[in-house]
Amino acid sequence: MNPSILVNPTYPVYEPGTLWQRIVDRSQSALASGALESIATTYEIVNQAGIPFLVRVLANLDRKTAAKKEQDRKTARSGVAFNPFLPYEPELYVADLSSTHVCLLNKFNVVDHHILLITREFEEQDAALTLPDFAAASQVLAELDGLIFYNGGALAGASQRHKHLQWVPSRMLENGPGLPIASAIEAAQAIDGMVTVSTLPFIHYIAKFDSFNSSEVMSQIYLEGYLRCLNAMGGSAREAASSHDGHHLLPRAYNLLLTRHWMMLIPRSQDSFEGIAVNSLGFAGALLVRNPEQLQHLKTVTPLTLLTAVGYAA
Ligand code: AMP
Repeated sequence: MNPSILVNPTYPVYEPGTLWQRIVDRSQSALASGALESIATTYEIVNQAGIPFLVRVLANLDRKTAAKKEQDRKTARSGVAFNPFLPYEPELYVADLSSTHVCLLNKFNVVDHHILLITREFEEQDAALTLPDFAAASQVLAELDGLIFYNGGALAGASQRHKHLQWVPSRMLENGPGLPIASAIEAAQAIDGMVTVSTLPFIHYIAKFDSFNSSEVMSQIYLEGYLRCLNAMGGSAREAASSHDGHHLLPRAYNLLLTRHWMMLIPRSQDSFEGIAVNSLGFAGALLVRNPEQLQHLKTVTPLTLLTAVGYAA
């Protein structure tokens, strides 16, 4: 797919191969203007079952929480749910990915160069992912190796109702290692047709991909892998997804991790455990806590017990 054919002509044309530079340039200008409000953290590595969990600790005021309160105030004042993506802040705009998806900077980023892939028109975050969603995801992965993730519903950590996939670099620390969970997944073998990681105590469904092909081919392969995972999750999820129109709500919240080589879907039972909230990044091995006390508590609870408590025990 050539993105320049599909762009809204009122936006600058997005040249394939320039996405990374656009993210870097936009980050610089949005930081300078104050539109990008990066969240400062410190971090610690907590090892468990061979997984080096990266645990970030908020360094000061949680701007995202403050922004959520402001968003709730705006909603209460206007009586209409405030949607930060419709319209989006022009200073955070990165590129038009397709006729259906726009790429923005995440306004309250913890990881540098964190981007959002939002639908141009309103779609529910609880709706099943569609071929155009996977086309946008594979277009980004074709240019930038890294992690696409999706918080499927409020229980899975989504704070916005407007559909948004997200991308972060695999190296979440400058010059650091790749995704903490990656080697466990890459080493996992299929048993009875399903790939599972025996050291992960929570229910998860994995689809592996032999090689990364063109984004056109990958979007279809990703959709098929997603439908297989939904089928394994059950609860008529696959039927809801098969309508392909982006409006069928899934019966269960889940997190989705997607790379060039694999995807993992994790059904969710609750959004947090003992005050520690978890989204998709937690299942990639990157957790976020509010303060040093919560870090201590997490070490006592242990990351895998936390992840199992917010998912389902395998
Ligand atoms: P989630 O919380 O997983 O639903 O992801 C939504 C993301 O949108 C959050 O990580 C926020 O930081 C981000 N966000 C909130 N408001 C804006 C905004 N006005 N523009 C861009 N990103 C935003």
